[in-house]
Amino acid sequence: MTAHSPARRYRLGLLEGDGIGPEIVPAAAEVVDAALSAAGARAVDWVPLPLGRAAIDDHGTPVPDSTLKALAELDAWLLGPHDSAAYPEPHRSRLNPSGTIRKHFDLFANVRPARAIDGGKAIVDGTDLVIVRENTEGFYADRNTHAGTGEFMPTPDVAIAHGIVTRAAVERIAHAAFDLARRRRNKVTIVHKANVLRLTTGLFRDVCREVAAHYPGVEVDDYHIDAMTVHLLRRADTFDVIVTENMFGDILSDLTGEIAGSLGIAPSVNTSEEHGMAQAAHGSAPDIAGRNLANPIAMILSSAMLLDWLGARHGDDGLRRAATLVDTAVADTVVGGMSTVDMGGSAGTREFAAAVASAIAAGVHR
Ligand code: ATP
Repeated sequence: MTAHSPARRYRLGLLEGDGIGPEIVPAAAEVVDAALSAAGARAVDWVPLPLGRAAIDDHGTPVPDSTLKALAELDAWLLGPHDSAAYPEPHRSRLNPSGTIRKHFDLFANVRPARAIDGGKAIVDGTDLVIVRENTEGFYADRNTHAGTGEFMPTPDVAIAHGIVTRAAVERIAHAAFDLARRRRNKVTIVHKANVLRLTTGLFRDVCREVAAHYPGVEVDDYHIDAMTVHLLRRADTFDVIVTENMFGDILSDLTGEIAGSLGIAPSVNTSEEHGMAQAAHGSAPDIAGRNLANPIAMILSSAMLLDWLGARHGDDGLRRAATLVDTAVADTVVGGMSTVDMGGSAGTREFAAAVASAIAAGVHR
């Protein structure tokens, strides 16, 4: 925990990104402003920074050096989704923007909650779990090389990628998972594929088990990734914290997002000891971009997670109160009958965000 001068305002980056990013990122910022004000917390200074397709057009690269330099000086930031599959070459073949930023700042913990909201069309009611995904290595080749994307083709008909698992990386993600479980329901599930990927995911499982020994009050079990998909679909409500490697976590969190109601409500933060980045678990949804159809809940809840992380880091209860106000207001708004099209409702992105901001003000005066 670091001391924070009472006079200084927090500076948060705003990186809108591509697709629905320019709709959901400002929506989240509007809600954060409302929550900070209602919580009596210090207002933040927003720092817009170029990223994605617009940055290619203006700076010749999706993640300009100036953006990375500016981020290093900020307290935290909100990252919108990117549509890197649509970038012109050579950018399309390179490490994508969020991978670049995660790697640059060693954001090793990707925390992805899935919580069913009443009235939100969950597949498994009562789901309230968190996936803690190791973010820096594993089977995404672009995360485990010093340079290059880690995939290569020795001939046009042969493609090769490698995976990496290190004790140090597993230890730090396992501690993050067990620390989180202690603040929740004291249960951690390790997900791996140690019957086939015996050495790599076997090391992941074994080191997690070793770390578990330091947390005697936390119950531990483990499942193979394939079996885990079935358990989640049947009984997601029985899981608490799930710790897993990079690619498994990416795939499982899409599943748990949908189980909890919609990918459009699935939030996440990416953190190191020093830096925090809010990022919705979903992609840039180019099919609905620019039409006021996007569900901003994932980005809004990601921002609340970031406020909570920043509040814990600086011992700032105002930020943590603001985070709780956002969570409650989102749930109240949905329970009150308002939702976006993906959840079966008819509200637009802007209308939904405005309703959440109003619910925050109303909640405080209730
Ligand atoms: P990426 O590879 O960048 O994660 P993806 O291929 O997984 O992207 P998404 O962009 O996440 O795909 O979109 C998957 C589907 O979910 C699309 O039909 C999209 O419209 C929908 N979707 C994603 N996010 C939202 C949202 N916030 N609101 C409404 N629909 C969404």
